[in-house]
Amino acid sequence: MTGIKQNLTAVKETISKTAIDCGRDPDEILLIGVSKKKSVQQISQAIDAGLNSLGENYIQEAMEKIDAIGHDAATWHFIGHLQSNKARFAVPYFDIIHTVDTLKLAKEIDKQAKKISKCQHILLQVNIAMEDTKFGATRDQTIDLAKKIMGFEHIALQGLMCMPPYFDDPEDARVYFTQLTKIKADILAAGVDPDAMAHLSMGMSNDFTVAIQEGATMVRVGTAIFGSR
Ligand SMILES: *Cc1c(COP(=O)(O)O)cnc(C)c1O
Repeated sequence: MTGIKQNLTAVKETISKTAIDCGRDPDEILLIGVSKKKSVQQISQAIDAGLNSLGENYIQEAMEKIDAIGHDAATWHFIGHLQSNKARFAVPYFDIIHTVDTLKLAKEIDKQAKKISKCQHILLQVNIAMEDTKFGATRDQTIDLAKKIMGFEHIALQGLMCMPPYFDDPEDARVYFTQLTKIKADILAAGVDPDAMAHLSMGMSNDFTVAIQEGATMVRVGTAIFGSR
């Protein structure tokens, strides 16, 4: 059970080393520990070991765990698929939602955030490899969404998120991370405020070093911290 602490230290060291080796400031990269299917006890261990951002995928599971651990114990990131009818739960519980991919969902988040006088931070999820099995918007839809969301009073767009296919060799994911960086540039060229494109959430246990080399500012790491699920 001391594994979590050691794993966390190792992941943090890898992030720092990778950033420095490619000329980036390690402080620009936020480590999000992905704790789906992990217990309150395991999450609490990680928090005690210094992890302050956590990612959850399933609303019901997340609400129960956040209630048990305490909302203020960490920053909570929603990284699973969000149905519009679950936005009313996600908004009060999560500091940032990484997976907005339709205007319908954005409108519902805006409505729910207004109800509790919140400005909900979000990212737009891009289906970067156009996989049938994954959620996310196309490049063109993402640019359109970014422009429209700028007009929403209770949403603060923060950037983009993607999840490329799994490859045994993380080098194979590089092209997709590069593409997300290009889409960000296209959105900026379309006149969207740079503050709304400050973050790129990309990279998981298997490929976060490559994602950092390609500009990730948030990496979502589950297995390498908490062990296999
Ligand atoms: C589960 C999950 C992760 C973490 O995956 P690992 O391979 O365990 O690091 C990251 N992002 C999303 C969206 C996930 O669903």
